Amino acid sequence: MARARDMEFREVAETFQALERITARTQLTLILVKLFKDTPVEVIDKVVYLIQGKLGPDWKGIPELGVGEKFLIKAISSAYRVSEDSVVKLSKSVGDLGEVAEKLARQFQDKKAGLLAFAGVKGKLTVSRVFDSLLKIAYATGEGSRDVKIRLVSGLLVDAEPLEAKYIVRFVEGRLRLGVGDATVLDALSVAFGGGAQSRPIVERAYNLRADLGMIARIVAGEGVEALAKITPVVGVPIRPMLAERGKDPGEILEKAGMKAIVEYKYDGERAQIHKDGERVTIFSRRLENITFRYPDVVEMAKEGLKAGKAIVEGEIVAYDPETGELKPFQELMHRKRKHEVERIAKEIPVKVFLFDALYRDGEDLTDKLLPERRKALEEMVVESDNWAIANYVEIEDPESLNKFFLEAVSEGAEGVMVKAVHNESFYVAGARGWLWIKYKRDYKSEMADTVDLVVVGAFYGKGKRGGKLSSLLMAAYDPKADVFKTVCKMATGFTDEELDNMNEMLKQHIIKHKHPRVDSKLKPDVWVNPVYVAEVLGAELTLSPTHTCGIDKIRAGVGVSIRFPRFIRWRPDKSPEDATTEDEIIEMYRRQLKKIEEEQAPETEQA
Ligand code: ATP
Repeated sequence: MARARDMEFREVAETFQALERITARTQLTLILVKLFKDTPVEVIDKVVYLIQGKLGPDWKGIPELGVGEKFLIKAISSAYRVSEDSVVKLSKSVGDLGEVAEKLARQFQDKKAGLLAFAGVKGKLTVSRVFDSLLKIAYATGEGSRDVKIRLVSGLLVDAEPLEAKYIVRFVEGRLRLGVGDATVLDALSVAFGGGAQSRPIVERAYNLRADLGMIARIVAGEGVEALAKITPVVGVPIRPMLAERGKDPGEILEKAGMKAIVEYKYDGERAQIHKDGERVTIFSRRLENITFRYPDVVEMAKEGLKAGKAIVEGEIVAYDPETGELKPFQELMHRKRKHEVERIAKEIPVKVFLFDALYRDGEDLTDKLLPERRKALEEMVVESDNWAIANYVEIEDPESLNKFFLEAVSEGAEGVMVKAVHNESFYVAGARGWLWIKYKRDYKSEMADTVDLVVVGAFYGKGKRGGKLSSLLMAAYDPKADVFKTVCKMATGFTDEELDNMNEMLKQHIIKHKHPRVDSKLKPDVWVNPVYVAEVLGAELTLSPTHTCGIDKIRAGVGVSIRFPRFIRWRPDKSPEDATTEDEIIEMYRRQLKKIEEEQAPETEQA
């Protein structure tokens, strides 16, 4: 058998360098297209992960590399035969350890060159060698693992070209999340292997059904778009969840859903996509993290309560009080985050699962079936018990009944209701937010009574007590069509002192020299930041603004929409930047606000 082809790591390092230098989103895709075309099929998955600063899809739960600054200094010192002190000294003058490694590698290379030329060999790093070493570093645990990790990093550095050394170090430091989003990779794959934008929907659909960019890249690079078009879900690989639009008025909601709908309680818990393969159960979160360890009780429920060899179902896990049967708020589930306490907490705070969809059953892809059919499959599969049940629902055709059911849901401890279309296009559209599902929640006092989720794209230094600290953030909404982040506000309130300190640490990892190519901004912050962090933000109202780019030209020429008095509520590590509130949603919120103001003012005008 022919040996699997590999690729020099140098090409990946050069791509990193190119990515760091560009400022336009379009260049980003072009650079990736070139790289992907040059990459042998056998390693394209690895290249895709590396480009995103990862070693696999997030849901695989690959451990952190666990090589802190101190270990890295040791590795660099041992690779280039210099003292740790001189590495530290150099890093103070050069700036970051990546550049230190680059510099030392160059000196080292000069020394080594004579010897290697004499021996006639040159240690070239391949993608597989780098990737596999990084994986080994991640998985090294227990006694002696510290030395193993240092040895592996230093082994790579010895054979690295200066540029390679720089990016290996940055990767190990966790600084290589360059903000290359999934959409950018999908664009590049479509162009590189699908002939262009026309195959983008096929590539995207496949990714939505199997959320593993490496796997998708391998299929399309090896077997072409035709193979991707036939992809179906597999148990064990998460499906990107279908998402809901939000509605305000029962009449309007029903109209959007097609005048007839299945309406379910909207439970306030954690979304769970449950995969069952015989006795093996895996649970994925809304953001597709593997959260199985948090819910050993749900694993048992699924084993008992799903009549199918292989199945994928979705539901909401809710904390509840077994004595009163009352549902508890979402925050209660957060106690299960600590690994070693899960078993105890599972007893103290039991959960109940409310199932609402079935996506796969014994070889049958249900995502392309209509909702009524999926519900039927769900009902056939689920054996209900005290804490494993199908979500409460009714079929509704008029706004009055919708309102009545909504009030009942809220009084029973739900957040509101989910209105789901049943018409002949009511498929499970993985990874998309649309009007097939509409959430109708309580507590819509004003438009901004609901928070928005925004992405940090830059930051400003504070003054006075906050002098020298980054204390104001430039926040952006997401424009999925252009795959760019557009600014909506500067946010400086809502942080405690501790949060501010933590935030400075977090941001430090992601400061970049110039605006990220996926960011659209007229303002120039003191520092630019990779678009990776999402925060929940509450604002007082929306206004037109000449300084922000979100919604620019959509309402008035040259003017965007901005959020007044934004206040930080909390970080949303469960959301990726692409899950942030979209530009269209912000525009829609502005329009509704305007309408509301007009309505409120109308009677007065009439009286006058
Ligand atoms: P997003 O819509 O992006 O998920 P969000 O995180 O703010 O936004 P919500 O506004 O709470 O989420 O609404 C959607 C979520 O509601 C789903 O992801 C799911 O976790 C939850 N949910 C509760 N009950 C249901 C149900 N019956 N059907 C579908 N989703 C439900």
